[in-house]
Amino acid sequence: MHNLIDQLQAHGHLSADGYRQLLTTGDASAVALLHERARAVSQATWGRGIFVRGLIELSNVCRNDCYYCGIRRSNHDVARYTLSADEVLQCCHQGEAAGFRTFVLQGGEWDESRDQWIADLVTAIRQRWPHCAITLSLGERRTRDSYALWRECGANRYLLRHETHNASHYATLHPADMSRDHRLQCLAWLKELGYQTGTGMMIGSPGQTVDHLVEDIEYIAEVRPEMIGLGPFIPHPDTPLGHHRAGSVDLTLRLYSIFRLMFPQALIPSTTALATLTPSGRLDGILAGANVVMPNLSPTQRREQYAIYAGKASSGAEAAEGIAALERQLATIGYHIDWGRGDHKQFR
Ligand code: SAH
Repeated sequence: MHNLIDQLQAHGHLSADGYRQLLTTGDASAVALLHERARAVSQATWGRGIFVRGLIELSNVCRNDCYYCGIRRSNHDVARYTLSADEVLQCCHQGEAAGFRTFVLQGGEWDESRDQWIADLVTAIRQRWPHCAITLSLGERRTRDSYALWRECGANRYLLRHETHNASHYATLHPADMSRDHRLQCLAWLKELGYQTGTGMMIGSPGQTVDHLVEDIEYIAEVRPEMIGLGPFIPHPDTPLGHHRAGSVDLTLRLYSIFRLMFPQALIPSTTALATLTPSGRLDGILAGANVVMPNLSPTQRREQYAIYAGKASSGAEAAEGIAALERQLATIGYHIDWGRGDHKQFR
């Protein structure tokens, strides 16, 4: 097992069987070594600074019906909202004053007729805060034109997890009008357009096997995204997959470390889903090689309406107003906030 970890660190890849062994081994000392190596690589590349991104949950209105997601179209118990442009600018204003240099606009998927509204919003943020990065996480678009428009207005980064690379597994998580191929096409467009692109998957989504994860690793090895987002699946009771178990924290942490050893330069967030499942999640993620956290910058009264899964953490160190708590938590493991924009090294 130690040999495999050496190989992964030296060459940045393993055989499918090598990944399978790292994901399934019961050898606790090997798992500890995996995290230790990933942490050392992360520190050698990035130091002990952790980048922060201010997450603004733009809207919970969505035309899609993903079986795992709490804000899916068919969940009629959701009180739908969309922030006004002024509210978003106010969030950015507060965030910028607190030191944030990246704003992430995330939300459900809207009709293309509203692309221009987003474009105008991106333009306004770009004009007022030229020194800040704008990240979008607004899902799939039908054509490349939508992404091109937003890129021209000044968006720098885009987060679109592929969720699972396996087409038949994908089909068990999404309705028939969505396809794995279209999601991958969107990712290819984003890269072509020069976005710093993030992809990734939920860990432990219903029906996911170790072989699916190996397929995901191999896909990510091929596309070499600048950002890799991974969080455990967490059931939402008002969804078709609400009766399934949550994903494994241990497996999520192993994947952080595997990706860190594969991509020393990647931006890997220690995700809110991980912090939601276990109180030590955020720090454990960092100790497994993550180097980004995304505190919530949305208006506080809206946060519970953006419930993509049950019990989603959005206060304390998960919140922008809890930044001092985050700083204190990081200090307990010898880390600190890096207030830089935190672009991928190839984009500086
Ligand atoms: N509409 C956008 C943003 C979705 S929310 C998009 O599709 O990209 C961002 C991420 O939350 C999703 O990509 C998914 O991986 C994650 N997510 C959604 N439901 C979840 C659940 N029940 N448990 C854990 N993560 C979930």
